Amino acid sequence: MQKIREFHRQSIQDREAFWAQEAQRIHWETPFTQVLDYSRPPFARWFVGGRTNLCYNAVDRWLDTRGDQPALIWVSTEVDQEIVYTRADLAREVNAAAATLQELGVVQGDRVLIYLPMIPQAAFFMLACARLGAIHSVVFGGFAAHNLAQRIDDAQPRVIVSTDAGSRGGRPIAYKPLLDQAIVQSSHAPERVLLVNRGLAPMDLTPGRDLEYAPLRARHLDAQVPVVWLESNEPSYILYTSGTTGNPKGVQRDVGGYAVALCASMEYIYGGKPGDVYFSSSDVGWVVGHSYVVYGPLLNGQATVMYEGTPVRPDAAILWRIVETYRVNALFSAPTAIRVLKKHDPALLSRHDLSSLERIYLAGEPLDELTGQWLSEALDKPVIDNYWQTETGWPILSAQPGVEEVPTRFGSPSFPVYGYDVRVIDESTGRDCGPNQKGVVAIEPPLPPGAMSTIWGNDERFVRTYFESFPGRLCYSTSDWGLVDDDGYWYILGRTDDVINVAGHRLGTREIEESVNTHPAVAESAVVGVADSLKGQEAMAFAVLRTPDVLDEPGARDRLEAEIKRVIEQRNGAVARPARILFVNTLPKTRSGKVLRRAIVALCEGRDPGDLTTIEDPGALDQIRAAL
Ligand code: ATP
Ligand code: MG
Repeated sequence: MQKIREFHRQSIQDREAFWAQEAQRIHWETPFTQVLDYSRPPFARWFVGGRTNLCYNAVDRWLDTRGDQPALIWVSTEVDQEIVYTRADLAREVNAAAATLQELGVVQGDRVLIYLPMIPQAAFFMLACARLGAIHSVVFGGFAAHNLAQRIDDAQPRVIVSTDAGSRGGRPIAYKPLLDQAIVQSSHAPERVLLVNRGLAPMDLTPGRDLEYAPLRARHLDAQVPVVWLESNEPSYILYTSGTTGNPKGVQRDVGGYAVALCASMEYIYGGKPGDVYFSSSDVGWVVGHSYVVYGPLLNGQATVMYEGTPVRPDAAILWRIVETYRVNALFSAPTAIRVLKKHDPALLSRHDLSSLERIYLAGEPLDELTGQWLSEALDKPVIDNYWQTETGWPILSAQPGVEEVPTRFGSPSFPVYGYDVRVIDESTGRDCGPNQKGVVAIEPPLPPGAMSTIWGNDERFVRTYFESFPGRLCYSTSDWGLVDDDGYWYILGRTDDVINVAGHRLGTREIEESVNTHPAVAESAVVGVADSLKGQEAMAFAVLRTPDVLDEPGARDRLEAEIKRVIEQRNGAVARPARILFVNTLPKTRSGKVLRRAIVALCEGRDPGDLTTIEDPGALDQIRAAL
């Protein structure tokens, strides 16, 4: 770990020299005059005075050397289509989109809300906004009218770009009626709605407001839209957090710091180089989609794969088929997708030639030991757990094979990434914890380049939400529990609001879930703390079995429940033993794949589950109700 440690130490101790060096990775139209301005803590301004542009660095900069090479590879198993856009094709599409936005009156600083499924136009319009200095706010396509209305009110877009429909499991999902409802519900009215018509669903156009994109695109296909050079700290986009713990926060990102941080991460974390092919299966509506479907790979001269479809359709080998066809070098997915694959025939994993694939990255939620191990053995490839947040824009904890190859440990996202002065802090004293001591994972400010600049339009909420958790100490709280072991490996133990207190013992629900998951019959689980008059709280576990049919055998339910309780007792102690282990076919999750614990707790305590607009499958809550 020598090299990683040294690299990290430099990045913190010689912060400015370190980042001044990394900044050479991108084109600056005007050089910066100051690496870091930290005169107004906790607000950090990186590469002050420098002028650059995300679109120029992602597209134009590579045209001379890589104009004919694939830049955006679009695969849709929803509409059975695959298109490879070279960098030159991408430039044409982005310019056409930018010229169209310009015609609609979009200028620097305007917000453009993008409500699109996983189609190339999502990337074209993001990059087009970046080119013009307009601020995009991509809203996940699966969100309903209410979520969308909230975001329209907050971002106040001049233009909204949307479509007739997305598609899931081969069935069209109408977008336009939801958008119309959202605009009615919100108090802000966009001037224009631009629509990509996919011909999947009927679409009503509101005269004077709605326009189809195709004719405008045709007119602008040869447009060359000048790049607007932005000061490094001007906003590039707003992206709302997943809303797992409540009201989403509008994360505001800068331009220069983001470009530099992503470019560096492509090499140091993802082991990529120009010409490589990167495939992140995330939706563009999430931070992973922003950083690692669109910006990161393109900024580094790599090709990116954009996938519209699920990991199991037409069958559970689809991700590997894409890897084989396009010679993907690095795959980025989420544990939830891998757990789904685990329920399918393992032979599907070995059907394809995966020789191009160097590593697999997973992020977004805890990667339990068993899922990590299962995948790594099934594919015989390193599996790397990334820990980060919408707020940071790129990984906080990760293995960094581009710096040094160090063995990973399942269950641990390895080490702090260069640039992040990560700490584990005792919440009550505000002091750093020692090895193996559980505390809150925190980042000593200033936050590194690429991390959020503020909450859109609300500096005060930014400071209050993230920097006021520790007594007498201005430090960024991730709101996640963690610890560092004796060898320097980090562990994330769940969210600070997911900790349960059983008769005075504080237990992370994540640790109990890990234990439940070690039982060979279990595919995944959720553990929550439920109010108990005697103990304060007690644990309650919900498990999804790999083959639910086993419950049909007489006595199977009791036997499994007893076995799982025994495992928990052995691993976490008797206090952690849940009052009950209940079996369900699916867990309630947000649309980004995170378990909605607060809704489960509410049901267990007989309360209303509250705001459920981000839930993936409302039927999952009925299962919890039925199990109780
Ligand atoms: P909100 O902040 O609105 O409640 P959210 O926290 O779910 O939503 P994201 O920014 O998408 O929104 O998710 C970041 C969180 O996801 C982290 O704070 C952490 O709790 C969890 N997470 C992400 N990656 C990992 C990982 N590798 N291991 C464990 N937890 C992870
Ligand atoms: Mg969060």
